[in-house]
Amino acid sequence: MWEVIIVGGGPAGLSAALILGRCRRDVLLCDSGKPRNGKARWLHGFLTRDGISPAEFRRHAHEQLAAYPNVRTVEGEAVDARCLDGGFEVTFADGQTHATRMLLLATGVKEELPAIEGIDAIYGRSAFHCPYCDGWEQRDQPLAIFGRGRDGFRFALELSAWSNDLVLCTDGPSELSGEQLQRLSEAHIPVSEKPIERLESTDGQLERVVFVGGETLACNALFFKSVFSPGSDLATRLGCNLVEPGVVPTGAYETTNIPGLYVAGDASREVQLTIVAAAEGAKAAFAIHSALLKAEVPKKRSG
Ligand SMILES: Cc1cc2nc3c(=O)[nH]c(=O)nc-3n(C[C@H](O)[C@H](O)[C@H](O)COP(=O)(O)OP(=O)(O)OC[C@H]3O[C@@H](n4cnc5c(N)ncnc54)[C@H](O)[C@@H]3O)c2cc1C
Repeated sequence: MWEVIIVGGGPAGLSAALILGRCRRDVLLCDSGKPRNGKARWLHGFLTRDGISPAEFRRHAHEQLAAYPNVRTVEGEAVDARCLDGGFEVTFADGQTHATRMLLLATGVKEELPAIEGIDAIYGRSAFHCPYCDGWEQRDQPLAIFGRGRDGFRFALELSAWSNDLVLCTDGPSELSGEQLQRLSEAHIPVSEKPIERLESTDGQLERVVFVGGETLACNALFFKSVFSPGSDLATRLGCNLVEPGVVPTGAYETTNIPGLYVAGDASREVQLTIVAAAEGAKAAFAIHSALLKAEVPKKRSG
């Protein structure tokens, strides 16, 4: 039986594996290789790693984990999990099952892109959901914001911290109140209700929004409000109830309502940044190690 299985090898899972490895825990880390930021060229806002590519970030993490032979990493998807007496059993896509005393889910979330023709070609390059991640590079540029109603309203005002050249594109009726329209007008953010036909780009760089009827809006990037779903259903299978917008509510140390089950990274809290995911992974590792210590007779270590 493993001491810990970590499902998900993004920043949260990798960070937890590092701390648990250093605690001499026997850890199995499994990852299906579909990171949320897989389409992004650069990762921003991670102190000492600002501007690194996500692939390079992961490579460094795996290189460092390799120094801990008690951490085994495997590629593959965990497709099921169930509670056992004193632990969990995790089933992998290849049919193998592994038992563990503690289970950490760091399975992230899956982005759902707006249904606009042309967005796939620019997602992560000039179509973004997170101004904290990508706003700086777009500062003072002409930006289109995609959204409507309260979300679109709030997002447009938020983006005004990065650029004064904004158009809120609602792709049909804006669903904005008179008060919201007034507030946007005071902030010099025009609203376009014209239905969007497509986004035109070259090599991932957005050039214009094309509206039905042929009118265009030249812009450097499109920001849209993130809509996502859980990266896996393992937490709900094990008995966690999700809270809006589809994340697991966790305690201070990434604990859940199921003893021995922890959830860290984007799959848990609201702030969805890489450095926060890594910190949550570290906190979960701390709690897991402490819980294991409480339950065990100290091992005699050799070497
Ligand atoms: C386009 C884009 C750009 C971004 N840019 C930035 C940025 O510049 N700065 C920043 O701080 N944040 C950025 N983010 C957010 C950042 O990607 C996330 O906050 C971070 O990746 C969360 O880490 P995580 O470990 O929780 O999840 P993830 O990184 O998504 O990792 C989850 C991992 O779990 C695996 N997994 C899921 N289910 C299973 C399963 N059942 N079995 C096995 N493995 C499984 C997945 O394959 C994946 O590898 C960006 C996000 C996007 C979408």
